[in-house]
Amino acid sequence: MHVLSINCGSSSIKLALVDSVSRRRLLDMRIEEIGKPGCSLKRGEMIRPLGPQITFTDAARELLHEMLAVTGEQISIDLVAHRIVHGGGRFVRPTRLDERTLTELDALSQLAPLHNLSALETVRVAMKVLPELPHIGVFDTAFHATLPTRAREYALPEELRRKHGIRRFGFHGTSHAHVADAVARHLKTTPQHLRVVSCHLGNGASVTAIEYGRSVETSMGMTPLEGLIMGTRGGDLDPGILLELMRREHMDADALDELLNRRSGLYGLTGTNDMREIERRAAEGDESCRLAITLYSHRVRKYIGAYAAVMGGVDVIAFTGGVGENSAIVRHRCTQRLDFLGAVLDEDRNRDARIDDEHTIVDIADTHSRVRILVVKADEELAIADEACALLESEHATRDRLRIPVAVSARHAHLSQATLDKLFGPGYRLTVRNMLSQTGQYAAEETVTLIGPRGRISGVRLMGPPRDHDQVEISRTDEFVLGVDAPVRISGDLANTPGITIEGPKGTTTIPNGVITARRHIHMSPEDARRFGVRDNDIVEVRIDSEGRDLTFGDVIVRVDPSFTLEMHLDTDEANAAGIKREHVGELVERAEVTGAIERTR
Ligand code: ADP
Repeated sequence: MHVLSINCGSSSIKLALVDSVSRRRLLDMRIEEIGKPGCSLKRGEMIRPLGPQITFTDAARELLHEMLAVTGEQISIDLVAHRIVHGGGRFVRPTRLDERTLTELDALSQLAPLHNLSALETVRVAMKVLPELPHIGVFDTAFHATLPTRAREYALPEELRRKHGIRRFGFHGTSHAHVADAVARHLKTTPQHLRVVSCHLGNGASVTAIEYGRSVETSMGMTPLEGLIMGTRGGDLDPGILLELMRREHMDADALDELLNRRSGLYGLTGTNDMREIERRAAEGDESCRLAITLYSHRVRKYIGAYAAVMGGVDVIAFTGGVGENSAIVRHRCTQRLDFLGAVLDEDRNRDARIDDEHTIVDIADTHSRVRILVVKADEELAIADEACALLESEHATRDRLRIPVAVSARHAHLSQATLDKLFGPGYRLTVRNMLSQTGQYAAEETVTLIGPRGRISGVRLMGPPRDHDQVEISRTDEFVLGVDAPVRISGDLANTPGITIEGPKGTTTIPNGVITARRHIHMSPEDARRFGVRDNDIVEVRIDSEGRDLTFGDVIVRVDPSFTLEMHLDTDEANAAGIKREHVGELVERAEVTGAIERTR
């Protein structure tokens, strides 16, 4: 599958076209510094300046058109995967994006204004430019849906927490999940066997405690402001400071928002959010830059220790993100004096660690260190593509798993040998015309005529083998023609049903009862029933997708028997209403609910 992965940051849009099988990038391009003088589009060596007036919408359009111009007809795209920072409590797994989900996401934007607004703008542009493709949202918050209550709740009055949905969500989930998988693969084990402290140190930064594969603590909170020192965000702060600023500086919510999101952190301390420049200036003796590195690393180290305590130990400390992958100084400072945890850095390995497409993970721990210290290449675009693909594949798998063929039963009759004798002569044997899908059942060559008070219908097919009781199955339309009021029944339930006159080549007889309209039903084996999560006599729903006459049938009864072959039976009226042709075999899909709802798709 070719996945277009769109990673919208606070001031950049990164776009990668990924082959999900080879996991190769077929195309990489980005627009950086949106809204700033240096804003430019980059593809390989090519850099095209765009100017500061470009908005996110413009940037998204520019990138997508450039991408289409470059790929032309050569590369088909199967799906678009969008990184969305805040999915709130509702979006805890990758989700198909449409106007309804986008409106719900709009409401969450104020919780992550730096990212969500621009991401949603970008999604809308992409949906316009590529309207025929599925668009799937992958949420930074989703990986943290497993946070236990003790990590999730803030010590505020319950009423306020409930009213405003105040809780820890956590971010960078795609990256932390990727780290958990990558380190497990590297150590030839599974995430379920490891306690990992994952440090994502990019422009935004967060630490997550991943205990046996599950996020159990993470440093970002209800918004991405909490926790580590970041490019332009200061992370943890005494809330009293905000009160003081409101009183002394008369700052309102917007002013504080601007301060906390854009003017704090490394930028607030040094005037730049670029760690490379900070390291260079620190080496030249710049005190503010030295302070910035000290504060930054101290905060990370504090979290590593805390999270080891949270998990009762740690097996891996992992660094990822622009700073985590590239800054030996920061890694050195973050892991100082952690030998009490069993984590000892190898200074040479740390200094020499180089991460690239070939070497996506490097161990920088001392050989004797019990805890492995790993540098992991962040590949957010690939991780986003992986998650979106997994959703599409599981949708397909579910659909395949739940397919049920549909058979259309025209009017027919099951007769007893005694009735056959009267209509065809004594000892008459039916001739097999064709076998039916249910074991031993067949359609016979023979037909009869039904005669009701109002009219007659000839050519009614007989089914074999003969049964103990006569049973005539007609449609609602036939009822009108014949003038018979047949109840909707399952096969064999003939009490209080009307009778009818039947004419055969050798005689005519009137059966006292046995005329029914067959209740729509599904035959299935016990194995099928287990697969669908239904039981004998369950009532389910079946959706027929028939290009123009889609219809959901309720009141479909499940019949389970070891001799049954999976098949849903509809009569001709029902089939016509749903646009199913005679003998059409549809494919049904269950909506896996407790009620055993079953849907069909083609
Ligand atoms: P984002 O969170 O926007 O994806 P990145 O993960 O690319 O950001 O990280 C950006 C940060 O990484 C910047 O602060 C940048 O200065 C820093 N960085 C990139 N390369 C290096 C390097 N060689 N040494 C130190 N810091 C680096």
